[in-house]
Order: sequence, then C-alpha cells, then structure tokens
Amino acid sequence: MGYRYVGDASIAAAAGTGPGRALRSPAQFREWATDNAAEPCTYVVAADGVLLVAPRHTEHVACASGREVLAAGEITFAADDPGGDGDWRVEEVSNQSTGYCPEPSCWPVVAAAVERLGVRHPGGFTAAFEFRRCGECGSLSVVKENDFTCAVCESPLPAEWNLADR
Ligand SMILES: [Zn+2]
Repeated sequence: MGYRYVGDASIAAAAGTGPGRALRSPAQFREWATDNAAEPCTYVVAADGVLLVAPRHTEHVACASGREVLAAGEITFAADDPGGDGDWRVEEVSNQSTGYCPEPSCWPVVAAAVERLGVRHPGGFTAAFEFRRCGECGSLSVVKENDFTCAVCESPLPAEWNLADR
C-alpha cells in the first residue's frame, strides 16, 4: 500500500527544496554517494520502488514531489573503505517521517530499494517509530516505549495505525 502525505498543507506548499535524487542502480548510487553520503539523508521509496534521497531536513513531501510513497524516513550510508572502491552499507535507517507516518511494516520495500543499489543493510529499521492520530484532539503522536497515550491531551491512542483515516 502507499502512504499519502498527512502533514501540514502549509509545509507541503512551502516545500520547495525537492525533489529527491532517484537512485536506481549501483552506478547511480556510487556517483551520488561519493559526494553526498556522509550525512544522514531524507529518503522516500517512490511508488515504483525507487529510492529517492535528499539532504537532511528536506521535507519528505518535497523529496517525493508530493506523491504517495511506499516508505519514508531517514537513512545514513557508510563506506567500508571511505574514499575507495569498497562496498557501501546502510548504517542507520528509520521510518521517521511525520509527513507520511509510515508503519514499521514498510521495511521490506526499503530493503528491496537498497538491495537494487548493491548496498548492504541491517535487516530492519535501526530505529522504528509508531505514529498515531489522537481520536480526541487530532494531534499526531509518536508512540514512545509502547505508551499509547496522546502527548497533548493524554487520551488513549488507538492500537492500530490510523493515519489514513481522514
Ligand atoms: Zn490528544
């Protein structure tokens, strides 16, 4: 399934820094990574399964050109042999995107997008987030330590992902 942007419309309208760079092959990854991969990046996986990356702090909605995504979050790459021709790996990867609020279960599409670049990965998110919208006050909450309580109004949050419900 795809995730639609659920964040603030004013952010989407102002997000002029995208789109992300599409990485479709090991060659494209290496060309990009040589100059850009030292820092954590914003990423989305587009509907066609392609990884799009953008400088950190780029809004996910800009990285995705406002489109639906299969996954979104932050990713950090590292080289086994910095500056050389060695292999690359994913050092850290999360589903942290308050614009798309993807579920942790989107990991397989991230894994597939990275594998097609010839990049190793840790086999799962190194940091996984659960997002819920509060049914009482409408706030977006990030569930911390399995505490399904709204941080704003302290109402109980639903057990199931509900960001598509609006
Ligand atoms: Zn609330």
